[in-house]
Amino acid sequence: MTGAIDVVVIGGGQAGLAAGYHLRRNKLDFVVLDAQSAPGGAWQHTWDSLHLFSPAAYSSLPGRIMPVQPGQEYPDAGHVVRYLTDYEHRYDLPLHRPVRVHTVVRDGDRLRVDTDAGHWSARAVVSATGTWWRPFVPAVPGQGIFAGRQLHTTGYRRPSEFTGQRVVVVGGGNSAAQITADLAGHDGIDLTWATQRPPRFLADDIDGRALFDAATARRRALDEGRTDTGGVASLGDIVAVPPVRAARDAGLLKARPMFESLTAHGVRWSDGTTARADTVIWCTGFRPALSHLAALGLRGTHGHIATDGTRALGEPRLHLLGYGDWTGPASATLIGVGRPARDAVRQITDLLA
Ligand code: FAD
Repeated sequence: MTGAIDVVVIGGGQAGLAAGYHLRRNKLDFVVLDAQSAPGGAWQHTWDSLHLFSPAAYSSLPGRIMPVQPGQEYPDAGHVVRYLTDYEHRYDLPLHRPVRVHTVVRDGDRLRVDTDAGHWSARAVVSATGTWWRPFVPAVPGQGIFAGRQLHTTGYRRPSEFTGQRVVVVGGGNSAAQITADLAGHDGIDLTWATQRPPRFLADDIDGRALFDAATARRRALDEGRTDTGGVASLGDIVAVPPVRAARDAGLLKARPMFESLTAHGVRWSDGTTARADTVIWCTGFRPALSHLAALGLRGTHGHIATDGTRALGEPRLHLLGYGDWTGPASATLIGVGRPARDAVRQITDLLA
């Protein structure tokens, strides 16, 4: 598989599909290369009980409203995978799977995309590889001597795997709260939740809809030169989705401060108290999966690539989509990625004209 083409999209999750939708509408010649062997991006790999933090209609990609999942106000991850699978087929998007992109290099007036299935010569590239593939675990003393199991959010599936264990969950965000709630409802697990600062729950009536509105209001304010509204960060960290709300109301979501170090058999706080642990689950976030772009020499602070909107500042033929708010407000959400995808494709169309 090799050839010359207008645009290569790297990554076939929701962000890559949203780009594909607009590339199709703009009648550009393109392919989407995805390392997975099946549709759905990261949604194929989340834990069993994960539900979206927004209702279906507020979790939709451009052109196609996500159908309601019967009996579920907040659809589960399986529903998202089915929606994305249908989306690719509906818009006849040219997905190639499984194809892993190793590197993108400059090649005269083109970008060469080298993969494990040959190479493509593109006039523009959209990178939409997400963050799930680069779990982040902070450096904490004692990690090397802890004799138990350590896993990241990406490795967690279901509470039954931890029956009879002492489990420490680390992190103050949505993944940590949801996984703690999942484990707390399961008999036979001795659970500790450790957070760097006390957990900040959003008001119960705030879900992904309100977060999207806050992100949009912030973008408008900044675009119009008004005071920064603070966006989503001003509201809190944890969406009180029904299982989290239920666990919190039952008094099961009590966090302890972050511990200072791991010991051979558990964790130790700065005041000298300890807790024994069989497993530590690090729900400590992600970094953008950008190693395939390293040869372009664009890497900036925090592992990001500096962009103007989605366009890489140091390489105008490259756009970055998804990843986080740095590529557009709410760009790393289902409902939020449509707008930056449209803008990216508009700029690519102008560039290629
Ligand atoms: P991904 O889904 O990760 O897709 C990227 C694709 O690129 C993958 O298929 C991957 O295999 C592929 N890829 C990576 N590297 C390469 C390479 N080198 N070559 C080829 N292919 C490659 N958003 C919401 O809108 N609502 C929610 O309720 C919500 N809940 C979330 C819960 C959790 C626990 C997490 C982690 C995120 C949640 N998000 C939510 C945020 C976001 O919607 C998801 O993270 C989503 O998966 C991001 O989509 P993406 O297309 O950017 O990346």
